[in-house]
Amino acid sequence: MNKSNFDKEVPREDELYLVSPCLLGIPTRWDGGQCLAERLVKLAARGKVIPFCPEAAGGLSIPRPEAEIMGGDGHDVLDGKDRVVSIEDVDVTPEYLRGAQMGLELAGKYGVKVAILKAYSPACGSRKIYDGTFTETLKPGQGVMAALLTRNGITVYSENELDQISELSEG
Ligand code: SF4
Repeated sequence: MNKSNFDKEVPREDELYLVSPCLLGIPTRWDGGQCLAERLVKLAARGKVIPFCPEAAGGLSIPRPEAEIMGGDGHDVLDGKDRVVSIEDVDVTPEYLRGAQMGLELAGKYGVKVAILKAYSPACGSRKIYDGTFTETLKPGQGVMAALLTRNGITVYSENELDQISELSEG
């Protein structure tokens, strides 16, 4: 994605959050499903959310074959040391990199400082991801877009960490 596809940063008084649309009930997941998080829907209703799915934006279909990072994490993919490969053995690394870059540019345009992304995804996972064996085994690491956002100073949380965000905390 060429940087000219997004305008320069739009300053806003209210903080906006980049959010995985599957957490808002939008069926963007690889299997055509979603993973609704009610608190984020309420946040969206207040106009505080920018929904963005890096896998779909990067050019992958909905639904699509499941994919995982092959042993490393999103930082390794960004560094050209690892790949994202589907369960059908198709290399989808270019789509993941394209989607991550688009997400970063969108976040920059709206001055996003915090992203709330679906846990464990090879694109969105913020603390843990699947290990590349397609056996639902988790390992420490970030997905590709989560890694790129983190490298650029954006804090990434998952739906499991909403209490760490002051305006979403129920504690
Ligand atoms: Fe949700 Fe992220 Fe997967 Fe898109 S790439 S469906 S936003 S977890």
